[in-house]
Amino acid sequence: MANIIISPAKYVQGKGELANIAQYATKLGKKPFILISESGKKRVGGIIEDSFKETGCELVFEAFHGECSKNEINRLVAIVKEKGCDMVIGVGGGKIFDTAKAVAYYVNSPVIVCPTIAATDAPCSALTVVYTDDGVFEEYLWLPANPNLVLVDTDIIAKAPARLLVSGMGDALATYFEAKACQASNATSCAGGHITIAAITLAKVCYQTLIEEGVKAKLAVEADVCTTAVEKVIEANTLLSGMGFESGGLAGAHAIHNGLTCIKECHHLYHGEKVAFGTLTQLVLENADEDLLDEVITFCMDVGLPTTFADLGIENPDKDALMEAATLAASPDDTLGNEPFEVTPEKVYAAMVAADALGRYYKGF
Ligand SMILES: [Zn+2]
Repeated sequence: MANIIISPAKYVQGKGELANIAQYATKLGKKPFILISESGKKRVGGIIEDSFKETGCELVFEAFHGECSKNEINRLVAIVKEKGCDMVIGVGGGKIFDTAKAVAYYVNSPVIVCPTIAATDAPCSALTVVYTDDGVFEEYLWLPANPNLVLVDTDIIAKAPARLLVSGMGDALATYFEAKACQASNATSCAGGHITIAAITLAKVCYQTLIEEGVKAKLAVEADVCTTAVEKVIEANTLLSGMGFESGGLAGAHAIHNGLTCIKECHHLYHGEKVAFGTLTQLVLENADEDLLDEVITFCMDVGLPTTFADLGIENPDKDALMEAATLAASPDDTLGNEPFEVTPEKVYAAMVAADALGRYYKGF
């Protein structure tokens, strides 16, 4: 099998960059279809309109209905065709740009992704996660290409709540360890091949960036400013983790995240918050050395990512519920099989309980 890496055709990140969107977009089409939430349009719609002012492009704004479902994708595809738009722009969070990517695929047009938060590593990928109208996971839609452009305005992302950036750090925390597991087991990545030196290097730098800049970035965003540390963490969460997971592969952390979704106490958590605990559990499964565990747990505590069951909202851990989550995580359809050793639900359960014990030890209770 070949070594494969894939990426967006172009990645642009900087303060105030959304104001330059027309400069990039007019190279791809003349009539953009812009998918955005009502509140997103109020916040940044004017910046987009001003950018296109002198271009002669006609903009078609459409409000997102809230779920990346087949019905919503079909509704939007029909509007794009009816209005004769030749490019799709998704502005907002994960579900908006996943929908924009799918719509562009079905109408065979270029797509631009403009994240207004850095809460996951989804913007750069050639993947859309499709849900039912009620928000239940339905399927992965693997797209033939990554976005033509990912445009990241760091001023806008820095203004979003700090918890979203921290959640993005939780998602990015897993990337290097999952890529390393896939490399050790010779697993196939989401890009459809084995890992390149490039992808494992991006994943490693992603982790190093979080450790070096994460706390500084969190404090800056809480103080309502965008600093160099914030910019570095936005790149780690979005580009480094995005390319790292897609061309590096997923393993324990995301499988354990998926297992945790069956525990109702965890439903209030963001994706990256559960992935952070999944990462800690994966490291326990792999029997990582104490120095590494110390670095990861200290990082999580410093930025406010969960390290214990109590942090996840599970006040009274119930063995049956945890076993159910462990069994779901170890399902053959998920990515725990990408760990370089045999993993059973019992081992996952033990690792989750031991991860919680470590987290409590560090917190002093
Ligand atoms: Zn993720």
